[in-house]
Amino acid sequence: MICALRPNLQLMPYVPYKFSLKMDKLIKNIHEKAEKIGYPIRLMELCGTHSQTIAEHGIKKLMPKNITLVSGPGCPVCVTDQSDIDVVVGLALAGIPVAVYGDTMQVPGNMMSLEGARRSGADVQIVYSISEAVNLQKEKPNLVFFGLGFETTTGMTAWAIKQGLTVYSAHKLFPPAMEALLQNKKIRVDGFIDPGHVSAIIGTEVYQKFNIPQVVAGFSGEDVILAIDMLLGQILGNKSRVENAYGRLVKKGGNKKALKLINEIFEVSDAKWRGLGEIKNSGLKIRKKYQAQDASFIHRKLIEKIKKEIKVKPSACKCGLVLQGLIEPKECPLFRKVCAPDNPQGACMVSVEGSCNVEYRYNN
Ligand code: SF4
Repeated sequence: MICALRPNLQLMPYVPYKFSLKMDKLIKNIHEKAEKIGYPIRLMELCGTHSQTIAEHGIKKLMPKNITLVSGPGCPVCVTDQSDIDVVVGLALAGIPVAVYGDTMQVPGNMMSLEGARRSGADVQIVYSISEAVNLQKEKPNLVFFGLGFETTTGMTAWAIKQGLTVYSAHKLFPPAMEALLQNKKIRVDGFIDPGHVSAIIGTEVYQKFNIPQVVAGFSGEDVILAIDMLLGQILGNKSRVENAYGRLVKKGGNKKALKLINEIFEVSDAKWRGLGEIKNSGLKIRKKYQAQDASFIHRKLIEKIKKEIKVKPSACKCGLVLQGLIEPKECPLFRKVCAPDNPQGACMVSVEGSCNVEYRYNN
C-alpha cells in the first residue's frame, strides 16, 4: 500500500531478524559470490518499502564488505516536486478544499507545507483511502484530491476520476526515472532491485530495455536477500537480465485491467521530480476527455497566478542527492541535527519510506 497511508514512526530499536535455514544458506551464498566477484558492488533498491525492509531486518549489516546497498527514488512522496506542493497549497489557501494522503501533509514546498496551509486556516483534509475522497466530494463538491505516486496508486486515482472526483495529478511513471539514473554518469550502480508493487501493475517486460542486472523482489527480509543473491549471480555470470523473484504477485505483462484503466484516464507528459529535475515522459496528466475532473484545467488561471508568485526558497536539504544514491542520509549536514521526523527539512525525512526517515529510525 502507499506509504502515505502510514503514520510517522519514531526511532526503532534494531532487532536482529531470525532467518530460516534456507535464508542462512542464501546469506552464505551471497558471501561466496561476493568473494568471487572481488570488487566493490553497489546495488540499488528502487522502492521505499524495500528500503524499509532492508533497515528493519538489518540486511546491510549482513552484507559482505564489498557489497553496498543504496536507496533510489522509490518513495513517491519524496519525489513529489516542490512546485506541485506549492500549487496544491496555493489552491487550499485560495479557499478550495483539498484532500490528501497523510504523509503528504508535512512535505515542504517553497511557500509552506500542506500542514502549514491547514494551520493557516485552509481546508486540508487527510484521507486514508481514495473512496474516502470520493465520499468527501459529495459533501464538498469543489474538493480537489492531490493524486501522487507511481503506477501502484495511479489505478485507484483513475477509478476515482471515473466516479467524478476532481484530481490534481502529480502521478509519475517509474521506468523513466530508472532510465534517468542510468544516464547519469555520476551514479554508479551494478544492479537494481526492481519495485514489487509497481511491477505488479506494469509487469516485468518493461524493464528489458535496461542493460543492467535486475531482480523484481517481494517485501519480506527473505525476499530481498533472495533478490541480492540472484543479482550477484547475474554479475558473477556477466549477465544483465530481468529476473522475477516475486512471481506470486508479479506477472510478465502486469495487471492488464489496471493498465487499461490508467491509459483510459491519463496520458504521458513530462514531469518534475524533486531533486532529479524534469524527466521527459515521466508524468501522467488527465486526458482531455476527463478535463471536467482535472484540477489543472478547472483552476488553470489560479494555478498560473500561483506559479507566477512562487519564490524558490534556497534549501540546504540534500534530498535530491539521497534519492539518486549519491550520498547517504547521514552525509547531509542537517541529518539528526536539525532534520528529524518531527521537524523534517526535506521530503526524504517525511515519509516512512523516505531514506532519511528510515535511516533516522533504524540507524543502520
Ligand atoms: S536529512 Fe533532511 S535535510 Fe538532509 S537530505 Fe534528508 S530530508 Fe533533506
